[in-house]
Amino acid sequence: MTSNIDFYNRKINYLRVSITDRCNQRCFYCMPGNGVAPFKHSQILSYEEIIQVIKTAVQAGIIKIRLTGGEPLVRKNICYLVSQIVSIPGIVDVGLTTNGVRLKEMAEPLFEAGLRRLNISLDTLNPIKFFNITGKYHFHEVWEGIETVMDLPFDPIKINMVVIRGVNDDELENFARISIQTPLHVRFIEYMPVGADSLWCPEKTVCADDILSRLQKIGPLIPVEGNHLDGPSLRYRFESARGEIGIISAVSNHFCHKCNRLRLTADGKLKPCLFSDEEIDIKTALRRGASQKKLLKIIENAIAKKPVGHDMNSWRAIRCHRHMSKIGG
Ligand code: SAM
Ligand code: SF4
Repeated sequence: MTSNIDFYNRKINYLRVSITDRCNQRCFYCMPGNGVAPFKHSQILSYEEIIQVIKTAVQAGIIKIRLTGGEPLVRKNICYLVSQIVSIPGIVDVGLTTNGVRLKEMAEPLFEAGLRRLNISLDTLNPIKFFNITGKYHFHEVWEGIETVMDLPFDPIKINMVVIRGVNDDELENFARISIQTPLHVRFIEYMPVGADSLWCPEKTVCADDILSRLQKIGPLIPVEGNHLDGPSLRYRFESARGEIGIISAVSNHFCHKCNRLRLTADGKLKPCLFSDEEIDIKTALRRGASQKKLLKIIENAIAKKPVGHDMNSWRAIRCHRHMSKIGG
């Protein structure tokens, strides 16, 4: 293997960084209703440690970073972290995935810190259903957060909807229409089997093909050309739409051959694949003062351990036991 090309000829250029496992919501598909025991403060990578990993990852070919959680906006001084990451030579793209609850107050400071790309999770346009999904009455805060960021030059602003049969799949078309009327990119995510004691079952996943055929009833979908930074999402837009549609078919479709990502958890583990329990510890080496060369070897090792894909015939089983809130999606 050379540089960031893995054994299966995939270019691994994208690192998703979970900066906390804590969250101000309890989405039932992500963590159990009574929450999960949080990591101790000492277990979590400091901002300086995260920055050191990212600087090393650049040497391994990483050019794109996404901050995630838990909920990244509950960690203090996130704007400091953003401003440091955007100034790392070699990083060309920095994004953040948030549930939007604190976005209204954080939008401007994040923009000033240099953030431009935002993904906001929103699974329903109905405030009561929002409570049923997240366990919190935060719908209006999230909506105001979306309105606030739309008044600033963030680009793109994506809305992530996890489509769950019998829960919110009746809202698919309404979400799709948002991409016609506004510049928002609406992305439909298949409900994934991740996390011990997850409530997931195969019947609740609405597959990408079903999503696509329902969207096509609204109007013809025009494929959108991706770029070298794009991950495996399928991109489309409706004729004369201001925004875009994306479909993340992690479960039903082989998107593994296009997978360009590596994950860093808040407690300092590198995860080569979302659908596997395999983790590579980088925190111990960091805290023992390992050289840059040694850290680079650990990252390259994690890239080398990316599996060719997950076995579609056995996707009915949960094969990653860490909760999604401790991975970051
Ligand atoms: N708290 C932030 C948020 O909700 O956007 C960031 C962390 S969250 C784990 C990242 C993404 O993972 C969110 O878009 C969320 O909807 C998605 N997610 C969580 N559990 C999922 C599951 N079981 N299947 C599919 N997507 C999931
Ligand atoms: Fe929290 Fe995001 Fe998980 Fe919902 S999806 S519980 S907001 S980490």
